[in-house]
Amino acid sequence: MKIFKHRNTSGKDRCIICGKNRDVPTVLIAQDGTRLDNNEAAIQVCVDCLVLRYAPQGCMIYQMLPLQHTTMGIVSGGKT
Ligand SMILES: [Zn+2]
Repeated sequence: MKIFKHRNTSGKDRCIICGKNRDVPTVLIAQDGTRLDNNEAAIQVCVDCLVLRYAPQGCMIYQMLPLQHTTMGIVSGGKT
């Protein structure tokens, strides 16, 4: 996972975890179902918002999001 020193704050994009558009170290996380040829949509997430877990039964690394989030982005609120 590549860590960018700065977030691209030029758009309305918000971190899906904290709901903010802060200029902090950021990672890009690919979005399932968006791959087309060599392109794929990704979301920007603050590095300090990540609290990843490993689930050996499901063979995956994941993070649970607050309930106010939808698959399309933040409905309201953010990290509590
Ligand atoms: Zn964040």
